[in-house]
Amino acid sequence: MNLRNGRAIVFDLHSKTSVEQALPEAKDLEAVSATKVADGLIAQHGNDCLVLGTGVLTGSLVPASCCGIVRCGGQRPKTVPLLGFLGTELKMSGFDFVVIKGVAQSPGYLWIRDGVAEFLESKEMSSMDSWARTDKIRADQGDSKIQVVAAGPWGDAGLGSSQLVTNYWGGEDKVGMAAEFGKRGVSAVAFRGMGELELASPEQHFDEALLLIREHIERLGKSRGLASYSEIAARDDFAKLAHRHVACYGCPFPCRTFLKTSEDPGELRLVSKEPGYLHYDLAALEKAFQLGADASTASEVIATCAKAGAEPVAVMSQMERMGKTCTLEEAEEVVGQPAEIPLTGATNFERSFENPREYDECLGLGLCPRYWAKVGYDLEKIASSAGSGLGWSPK
Ligand code: SF4
Repeated sequence: MNLRNGRAIVFDLHSKTSVEQALPEAKDLEAVSATKVADGLIAQHGNDCLVLGTGVLTGSLVPASCCGIVRCGGQRPKTVPLLGFLGTELKMSGFDFVVIKGVAQSPGYLWIRDGVAEFLESKEMSSMDSWARTDKIRADQGDSKIQVVAAGPWGDAGLGSSQLVTNYWGGEDKVGMAAEFGKRGVSAVAFRGMGELELASPEQHFDEALLLIREHIERLGKSRGLASYSEIAARDDFAKLAHRHVACYGCPFPCRTFLKTSEDPGELRLVSKEPGYLHYDLAALEKAFQLGADASTASEVIATCAKAGAEPVAVMSQMERMGKTCTLEEAEEVVGQPAEIPLTGATNFERSFENPREYDECLGLGLCPRYWAKVGYDLEKIASSAGSGLGWSPK
């Protein structure tokens, strides 16, 4: 099966046992959509399952093919994209999908690598914020490249305004998916894999992907990081603190801008333990600026929310309702007392597309919606670049 492992792992948290499940070969865009496959797995294994998965193009050479998803079922199914290197690491771990069933007897983290999955109980982790969870998993397993999607105290408390955090940073989860981790006793899920994917015509796939990347870069011009994607980040105070722009797997035009707030943005060495924050959550930045914060304070407030695993727009809206100003101290006070506060309906990646169907399709393929909305979502062009990898065209 080209570009796929052809298997899922179904993990039962209660018994800490797993079984592998073969995924059928399919050569139809609808049938291979990550969302559709996830829904099929949820229908098969129960509505209370949580599914982490990848698109058929995740990990391919098609530009910005970094995307995975977390999906839960029930009356109102929810989806969260997984960006950075998490989606590709999931696929390289040997599985296309991970189905999480049941509730853990004691909290801990699910550790998936090279065809193996285990649940490691860790009561200690329950008292940690999301950043410390990522640090602990990487230290315990001795590998700084492990990709972690973590809940924080807000997710542990099962709050609808919680957010999942991927490797310290937030922006993907605007639907309270972290609460779905918390309800199941899952503090985090971690991936690492050295797998390889088969390609139908490797050289042709490489050449075609390169052509597409060149065409995009020529058209897009010089990258200004997040400011290239939105005026929200095109402010002088944001630009002054910008240290570098960071790309997800396969992205030639990154939207992620790291601001250094506690040391010189020009400092190339890692001096401070927590030098700043990686911004890609436009909704959070927009809210912070609307409340009068400058780029430095906005970074501190959003980082505080990420550590707690609390959705930052909800937190800042709560601060506004309470008559607080948008400062670090006020944010720490609110996130330090996890409580049910309303989600505001703020979106981040969804806002890239006017047409929700195209957003879902892009996500389902394993492509970053923000990048593909920017370059012009064009299934014909994607198909021409993807076909040589897959051996069939996703049209
Ligand atoms: S546009 Fe941003 S989120 Fe999307 S792949 Fe590029 S760096 Fe990642």
